[in-house]
Amino acid sequence: MSRFEHPVGDALMARAERVIPGGVYGHQSPAFLVEGVFPRFLSRARGCRIQDPDGHEYVDFLCAYGPMVLGYHDRVIEAAAHEQRQLCDSGNLPAPNMVELAERLVEKTIGMQWAMFAKNGSDVCTWSLAVARHATRRDVVVMAQGTYHGVHGWCNSFGRGFPEGERASVATFDWNDLASLEAAFAQHDGGVAAVIVTPFRHEAMHDSEMPAPGFLQGVRELCTRHGSVMIVDDVRAGFRLHIGGSTQHWGVTPDMIVYSKAVANGYPLATMLGSEALREAARAVFVTGTFFTQAVPIAAAIATLREIESRDAIARMDRAGRRLCDGLVERGRGHGLEVTISGPPSIPFMSFVADAGGFERNRVFAGEAAARGAFFHPHHNWFVSSAHEDADIDAGLVAAEAGFAAVARMFGKDRA
Ligand code: PMP
Repeated sequence: MSRFEHPVGDALMARAERVIPGGVYGHQSPAFLVEGVFPRFLSRARGCRIQDPDGHEYVDFLCAYGPMVLGYHDRVIEAAAHEQRQLCDSGNLPAPNMVELAERLVEKTIGMQWAMFAKNGSDVCTWSLAVARHATRRDVVVMAQGTYHGVHGWCNSFGRGFPEGERASVATFDWNDLASLEAAFAQHDGGVAAVIVTPFRHEAMHDSEMPAPGFLQGVRELCTRHGSVMIVDDVRAGFRLHIGGSTQHWGVTPDMIVYSKAVANGYPLATMLGSEALREAARAVFVTGTFFTQAVPIAAAIATLREIESRDAIARMDRAGRRLCDGLVERGRGHGLEVTISGPPSIPFMSFVADAGGFERNRVFAGEAAARGAFFHPHHNWFVSSAHEDADIDAGLVAAEAGFAAVARMFGKDRA
């Protein structure tokens, strides 16, 4: 069977369309990938390799959109989860390991004195605002224009199905532009409860931007000056730049940090950490959920934090990411194509200079690379894990080479 064919996946999709709206919905929908070439379902995953129901294997450069920081089905993490599963998981009460995980997170993270747990990044982003609003008795929150903070009404980027009123207390500023943040503070003088920022700009369909020198420090100073809470949404970048929160990489201490994705290497968990000054507000805001006590993801998280450090996983991902990024630039050039690689090497984003903000070349690239056995998203940042060895990166680059060749064939070279 040709790698371009997915008879089993196509049949599953036809069934799915009858019983699941859209068949596959949200950002996992094929509509966001490359139809006809990308798999629609995932059957098996090990390390940095994934397999679709038709048996096609891919070197994975998306890591489940981030969570797989140590790779899929890591032996040590699975053993920790299995051990806890023999004791208890969902329950009437939290298991003792919730206390242990909170202690570990507080120990690792400068300025944070408490932690609370949930399931999704969206949960903790929204609750961090509730804590900040209750603590300051103010309503307005300020976020960077275009940033993804999840699916809740106040920040849902599609907006459909949520009343305008949900955004009434949300002001925006431009990422990396302190003057625009000052303007937001001025416009809502004395009313800003919180500023929520990601540690670097990483929205989809946009080159990533690292914080300009002094930007995060400036956000910190403005929040302090105005008595507002600085919240860092580290849901996507967390544990790939610094074990104690990505902003520690830039020497900045916020008042709250929210994590999810990589914290439990694929097990469903989110956490919100905060400073001593916010403890009472965190206690007062009603934060809960049926599955928040689940002890298996917590056991996985304790093991994940330990293994990230003992394996030097952050440095390994950085090295693997550099090998990937350097290889992409070189191979693109080999086909007369200029690409821009942005963001940290372990969370890279690639665009074609000639696409000038569009993603047509990315789609051709990602489609061809998928057919050659590498999963590169066409317009979302990628992730590497510490399970990516040199040989995996090199196998990905061989597939990428075919992707570049297809782009050069279809669109022509940027230069001879
Ligand atoms: N914040 C950021 C920065 C994210 O990347 C995401 C998920 N992509 C979220 C929040 C929402 O997390 P979740 O999908 O787990 O609700």
